[in-house]
Amino acid sequence: MTRRQALLLTFAVPATAKGAAPDRPVVEWTPLPLFVGAPVLFRTNVSGSATWLDQKIEFRPDGGDGFSALAGVGLDRAPGTYPLVLQDQTVEVAVKARAYPSSTIRVPPKFVKPPKEVQARIDEEIAMKRTVFHSSPAERLWHGPFTAPAKTRYTSSFGVRRMYNGVTQSTHQGLDYSAAAGTEIRAANSGRAALVHEMYFEGGLVVIDHGESIFTLYMHLSEFLVKEGAAIEKGQRIAKSGSSGRVTGPHLHFAVQWRGSYLEPATLLRLWG
Ligand SMILES: [Zn+2]
Repeated sequence: MTRRQALLLTFAVPATAKGAAPDRPVVEWTPLPLFVGAPVLFRTNVSGSATWLDQKIEFRPDGGDGFSALAGVGLDRAPGTYPLVLQDQTVEVAVKARAYPSSTIRVPPKFVKPPKEVQARIDEEIAMKRTVFHSSPAERLWHGPFTAPAKTRYTSSFGVRRMYNGVTQSTHQGLDYSAAAGTEIRAANSGRAALVHEMYFEGGLVVIDHGESIFTLYMHLSEFLVKEGAAIEKGQRIAKSGSSGRVTGPHLHFAVQWRGSYLEPATLLRLWG
């Protein structure tokens, strides 16, 4: 046997034959550190389901030779250590605190205290969204990295406690892209247009269902370029931005929801490095 043949034999031994258990799950995740309000991309070397924050998540092929699952930590979670349970293995996942600032905003009074005659419309729209958020398929419709919905700049305003006209009203649950009216808005990933509707607060709203109860939302739109129910490709033009609904001026509000929790979109766009 030549020296070259001997080397080839050495390297031909499969990694799983080295003595380590072949299918012992190895779990990694981004971002590191993980923080309250962040989406999280878990990666493993095995497929199958796991539990995380009392939710079942599914590890599926991610294009390489590994498996991934997208999840998140809602803003209402306390910092701490939360176990991810995969097969018979428990991985302790540390979640750090993050300080979110507050800001003051002035909008027309009708958006702080909506007039009585629009309450029925608002209730109807809440019910409409609830139906959409509860009808996501278990399959994965998204593939690979999520991409920015607009090429413009955004203000990193997720998680900011907002005072509307001096009254603490809500937590800002998305990113605001500065976008002149008419700017083209593109789907952050593939999925289905689950809701395409003119809403009281959100204005022109598109909700894309990416499967696995992962949604992206696009608000204050001036024009829709897709029909409700349509299959959506990543990067597809879905709408034009505007200033409809509760706004101080034209911009795109971009939000991400996983299992009912809004997550920080800027981190989602960076999860794949
Ligand atoms: Zn916003």
